Amino acid sequence: MAGPELVVRSTRVVTPEGTRPAAVAVADGRIAAVLPHSAAVPPGVPVEELGDDVLLPGLVDTHVHVNDPGRTAWEGFATATRAAAAGGVTTLVDMPLNSVPPTTTVAGLRVKRAVAGPAVHVDVGFWGGALPGNRAELRPLHDAGVFGFKAFLSPSGVEEFPHLGPDDLEAVAREVAGFGGLLIVHAEDPDRLDRAPRPEGPRYADFLASRPRAAEDAAVARLVAAAGRYGTRIHVLHLSSADALDTLAGARERGLPVTAETCPHFLTLTAEEVPDGATEFKCCPPIREAANRDALWDALAAGVLQCVVSDHSPCTPELKVPDFGRAWGGISSLQLGLPAVWTEARRRGYGLDDVARWMSAAPAALAGLTGKGAVEAGRDADFAVLAPDETFTVDPAALHHRNPVTAYAGRTLYGVVRSTWLRGRRIHHRGVLGGPAGRLLERA
Ligand SMILES: [Zn+2]
Repeated sequence: MAGPELVVRSTRVVTPEGTRPAAVAVADGRIAAVLPHSAAVPPGVPVEELGDDVLLPGLVDTHVHVNDPGRTAWEGFATATRAAAAGGVTTLVDMPLNSVPPTTTVAGLRVKRAVAGPAVHVDVGFWGGALPGNRAELRPLHDAGVFGFKAFLSPSGVEEFPHLGPDDLEAVAREVAGFGGLLIVHAEDPDRLDRAPRPEGPRYADFLASRPRAAEDAAVARLVAAAGRYGTRIHVLHLSSADALDTLAGARERGLPVTAETCPHFLTLTAEEVPDGATEFKCCPPIREAANRDALWDALAAGVLQCVVSDHSPCTPELKVPDFGRAWGGISSLQLGLPAVWTEARRRGYGLDDVARWMSAAPAALAGLTGKGAVEAGRDADFAVLAPDETFTVDPAALHHRNPVTAYAGRTLYGVVRSTWLRGRRIHHRGVLGGPAGRLLERA
């Protein structure tokens, strides 16, 4: 073992080849080697003994709405990345909308980077946005380092981020394919939504009926068709409808470059248990029935869905009025994704290797973050240290994101994140956070 600056040792290190006792040598912020647990450590090198706590790769959350600048009362870079660090997330990629300006021009990207730079506690990258009117901005944004382009097929909820009509989608898919970019899409079909009953009032069942599975299914089919026509790499965001899984599986069988993610709330919560008026559970697409949730788990296990990311999308508490028609849609879970998913995963017989694949390796691969996503020589020394058998009860006031609203309030979850490490530095330990040590990332 030559020249490490730190060795981190655990009886349970989650590596791409499985979980095993190991000593992880760190040099220059990277993993120099993953060695046997008993490997000799050169004198003078500090050893962090984790005992039986599990060493996971730091989570990579590619779906976070930071909303900064412009809607900073909803969330900001300092608060969001503190929540990330406390939750074992070492990299996040910020969505292009809900901030003002949105990340739909190079100038907008510069504004975001300037605001984020001094504030971030974890590494942060940026998605760009594809609008009906900004096609000429896509290539320059790609060259400026965004990881891909988000688009909506139905209204986004904010007027500065209009959705793509059918012709726009074709043009954007062609344009993005032309420079080898990635298109990530909120997949709900606006015509199906228009034909559904209006959401109104406190009943969750009414809200669910207003966002039918058919809207997602039709949109996913359109995206698969576009990927087939132009060869565009397309990623389906926050899939909720299990009825779209066959279409996604078929696309993969045909070798199309289509991937998809789902979210902790779709995997852990069910429509049946949402209390009326509880709009902290409102998001689009919606949390569906228990049987739908089971099918999403099966699709993750089968690789039809690859990523689990938060879609952390907060707002001020006043916007969560107890009326599903009027409340802002979005669930705040950046700090809770790992324990929420782990609690349900362990109940279903999955291991932390699976969780690491869904929440770290696959999102890193989606964004092309080759230095992230695994405990493996050459990657950044980004770790989440988890006590998987300990439980805690979610107290919204103890969360670090800006507004103490979350659908997980009062739930008892397995998995306490003991510490979080970014490039070999401990940035969070037992609830205490360090300074803003994150970096801004660009597409490689
Ligand atoms: Zn989102």
